[in-house]
Amino acid sequence: MARYDYDLFVIGAGSGGVRAARIAGQYGARVAVAEERYFGGTCVNVGCVPKKFLVFGASYAHDFEDAAGYGWSVGERSFDWQTLIANKDREIQRLNGIYRRLLEGAGVTIFEGRARLGEEPHSVVVNGQTVTAERILIATGGWPELPSEPGAKEYGITSNEVFHLDRFPRRVIIAGGGYIATEFASIFNGLGAEVTQLYRGHQILRGFDRDVREFVSEELVKTGINIRYNTIISRIEKAGDCLMASLSDERQLEVDAVIYAIGRVPMSRGLGLEEAGVEMDKGGAIKVNDQYQTSVPHIYALGDVTNRVNLTPVALAEGHVLADRLFGGREERDVNYDNIPTAVFSIPPVATCGLTEEEARARFGNVDVYRSNFKPMRHTLSGRDQRTMMKLVVERESQRVVGVHMVGADTPEMIQGIAVAMNAGATKQVFDRTIGLHPTAAEEFVTMRTKAPEPAGDED
Ligand code: FAD
Ligand code: NDP
Repeated sequence: MARYDYDLFVIGAGSGGVRAARIAGQYGARVAVAEERYFGGTCVNVGCVPKKFLVFGASYAHDFEDAAGYGWSVGERSFDWQTLIANKDREIQRLNGIYRRLLEGAGVTIFEGRARLGEEPHSVVVNGQTVTAERILIATGGWPELPSEPGAKEYGITSNEVFHLDRFPRRVIIAGGGYIATEFASIFNGLGAEVTQLYRGHQILRGFDRDVREFVSEELVKTGINIRYNTIISRIEKAGDCLMASLSDERQLEVDAVIYAIGRVPMSRGLGLEEAGVEMDKGGAIKVNDQYQTSVPHIYALGDVTNRVNLTPVALAEGHVLADRLFGGREERDVNYDNIPTAVFSIPPVATCGLTEEEARARFGNVDVYRSNFKPMRHTLSGRDQRTMMKLVVERESQRVVGVHMVGADTPEMIQGIAVAMNAGATKQVFDRTIGLHPTAAEEFVTMRTKAPEPAGDED
């Protein structure tokens, strides 16, 4: 008889957990997974997928306006939030079913409920039942934070609630300057709300290339978003049907919703990790080695709960590699964390891969920068005041392209292919030798020939 009930018990059926469970199951391992909320996790239910539907929805507003320059007259326009949310929910329900069936198809036992480590090593408690497993994987993801200012917890909402609002908020405050805040500012702006984005610092999207940050913030303001810098909310109070937000600059704003997007914390509380001796950092992220093993050798962790690169494809890759290594006899497998492409799905979006110019200068000293800023062809007829920015950062000595940054329509679709080239070690000469695809914005990447002047000095 087997010593344990399962070879692998996975806590959390999100991006990373489902992938690890499914692949392990396909290798013939006896696998169980516990999920307390929704199959597919954050990405499918309150993250990437519903967010992208809302971005598509919001983009129509701009498309209707642009159509006039192409001879179209678009009649009366109206937007119905309930229709968008109901259609989005229907699709997500379908995806939930697919995730469940993927697990069932791989022979994985499903527990619907909250799981935690049991008192005995190798044990897990779920729905009042204790089961044992040779290995346990924590893939519980992250959770949005709310600040402690008066009224924030009572009246503020996060990305968890925003996808299920009963009524469309006509006036919205979005607090934060990261991915989620910037994406939701464009979503609500496009759908017709009056949007004020409050950022505590002097430029949104900290961590992105400086040119990108400056450029995209100007483009976002042109679309109608009111971005206020060096400002936070100091208090929120109820004002009839609305909310009154008092800001750190002494002003007050009456709005219908206050959305906080000020970061996410690892979901590591209440899992019995401390008692089991699993080490975490002070923010609650589980510490792992390069094999996703925690300080307790039979307990593993990956994805957002380790708070390293909090992106779905990274959690998927980690889950896949872990299952390959543990159950597929493929110990050589690892995740390539170099040149991970990423996008902020604002309107217009940002797409980036590799090092920022600042990082490249700090790492290599000498870099060549190629920058292009142009009116995209589409807007020569639409009349929209929107520009596209593209930038290549090249290590001078080897001529390797080490950073690619863009702001403009369709750039997330472009960066994936560029990431392949970068991982293949493409030099600027390889880019130059590649024939462009005309007429596209993407061809700009293979036609940039003039180096940008060296910066005069460094600030920030
Ligand atoms: P999750 O997907 O969060 O899954 C964890 C699962 O564990 C959840 O289903 C949870 O219910 C379950 N769970 C937690 N505790 C327990 C417990 N004790 N017992 C049982 N179950 C438990 N990434 C991108 O790459 N592209 C994007 O465009 C993008 N957009 C995003 C937009 C938003 C609004 C948000 C919030 C995130 C976005 N992300 C995006 C990030 C992406 O969603 C995460 O990086 C990804 O989901 C992490 O996967 P995970 O498996 O680590 O965790
Ligand atoms: P981020 O960490 O990206 O941004 C948090 C923002 O909130 C920052 O601007 C930060 O400012 C600000 N902030 C932090 N604390 C406070 C506070 N107390 N008061 C006011 N502002 C504050 O987190 P997000 O929540 O936007 O997203 C979480 C993660 O999810 C992302 O980092 C990303 O990994 C993933 N994600 C990916 C997406 C994609 O791939 N398109 C989309 C959405 C999320 P400061 O910069 O000064 O620290």
